[in-house]
Amino acid sequence: MRRLRGIQVVSRDPASVGRHGRATTRSLLLAVVLAAVAVAACSTPGPAASPGQISVVATTTVLADLVHQVAGSRAAVTSLVPKGGDVHTFDPRPSSLRAVASASLIVRNGLGLDDWVANMVVNTGTSAAIVAAGEELPGVTYLPGEGAANTVNPHVWMNVANAERMVAKIATALTAADPAGAQAYLDGATAYEAQLTALDTELHARMTTIPAANRTVVAFHDAFPYLADAYGLRIDGTIISAPGQDPSAGSLADLVGAIRRDNVKAVFTEVQFNDELARTIATETGVEVVSGLYDDTLGDAPLDSYAAIMRRDVDEVVLALGGI
Ligand SMILES: [Zn+2]
Repeated sequence: MRRLRGIQVVSRDPASVGRHGRATTRSLLLAVVLAAVAVAACSTPGPAASPGQISVVATTTVLADLVHQVAGSRAAVTSLVPKGGDVHTFDPRPSSLRAVASASLIVRNGLGLDDWVANMVVNTGTSAAIVAAGEELPGVTYLPGEGAANTVNPHVWMNVANAERMVAKIATALTAADPAGAQAYLDGATAYEAQLTALDTELHARMTTIPAANRTVVAFHDAFPYLADAYGLRIDGTIISAPGQDPSAGSLADLVGAIRRDNVKAVFTEVQFNDELARTIATETGVEVVSGLYDDTLGDAPLDSYAAIMRRDVDEVVLALGGI
């Protein structure tokens, strides 16, 4: 009955009232789902794990791929945010709660990207271990967020060298959750880190070909500072200050002014967001649109891995900015 107490936590959650304005409906839905989870948890194991596998839940498809690359067939990995979804504004689904309830390990990014998972942990009463794969990584220079002071930009994986450090942290968490797989996780992480080292070298070589005068861009949301910092771009601004918030007329006018003043070459759009506003700004200012970049989500095959989306993004950026 421990899980049933979670219903009361949900119904009082002030954050869900303020953010969504429909806490009553949401709480009722969650209450029904959680009751079902409580019953189901008594009789069934994890939803996807086969014998010998551990059940791992990641908050995003990008993190799920990092786990998969390390663990291979030892782990059944589920992403809470579906492919193409927006992690910043995600609303948990009934299937998300079932996955969290029965997971052995939850891999989140942390740094404010996926704080919503904390409520899911409380409300499902899951006994899963939790690792924030993007937090407290040795050797990573964390960059400031766009919002309030003292926030950190969470998109650390957009620098491949940082993703390597996340992989090491994920391997440690997998080993703690499943000690019998220690050697497999070590081998998986070692092989994948070598692939990422080679990928990082390749991306640096591609980005180096962009002429110095063409390296200033604006983005739809604030997902690219780590990529820019690592591979030599300058982000001059973003169209939205945070996903789910529409820009004001004043902030758009400021951005258009900056694009004209600062020799901006391109506007980055992203697959999980409508690109209409970016295209309007590009038309008005005459800059390129680098369309449909991948950052917070993977795509369909062959863009269904972290390495593939990073390579594809750099291909698009290099092409648009005059590199080779
Ligand atoms: Zn993002």
